[in-house]
Amino acid sequence: MRPTAFLDRDGTLNREVDFVRSPDQLVVLPGVRLALHRLRRAGWGIVVVTNQSGVARGHFGERELAAIHARLHDELDGLPDAYLHCPHHPNGGFGYGRACACRKPGAGLLHEATALLGADLAHGAVVGDSARDVLMARGTRLRTVLVRSGKPVDEQLAKLAAAGANPDFVADGLPAAVDWLLAP
Ligand SMILES: [Mg+2]
Ligand SMILES: [Zn+2]
Repeated sequence: MRPTAFLDRDGTLNREVDFVRSPDQLVVLPGVRLALHRLRRAGWGIVVVTNQSGVARGHFGERELAAIHARLHDELDGLPDAYLHCPHHPNGGFGYGRACACRKPGAGLLHEATALLGADLAHGAVVGDSARDVLMARGTRLRTVLVRSGKPVDEQLAKLAAAGANPDFVADGLPAAVDWLLAP
């Protein structure tokens, strides 16, 4: 079965900023593009899974988000198979203010990947800079990698320890995460 890499966006693929509101604010992190090429050459599927509560908060709309992902797709050499996002926030509005199953740490986006792309949640990994990314893999057999390229890692590790859900590996960034995932 083909493994899939479920990759967080902000702090994992591109530089973490408060909210990326337009394509011009996207800065792809060093080595990310090459790391995706390595995953693809190794036969992995690549799916971006991202919380984008800026939609529910009114910072940007679905149209702007689509433009941001179009730019990101170009900069990543068209490698990701899909971009799945949660636009919701429980305290938000603009038609998106609700509790949902797709906001990480919920696993809704993983199930969406299964339904839309046939992704297998027994083979592959979740990679992200937030405790939420690691927690979304609970109940699956996906490996988990926390990366140091976004949020301060100590806070995230403390949250994970409190939840009894330590990541399988902690990497400096996506390139080192891919080294670990592809190691024989
Ligand atoms: Mg992130
Ligand atoms: Zn959602």
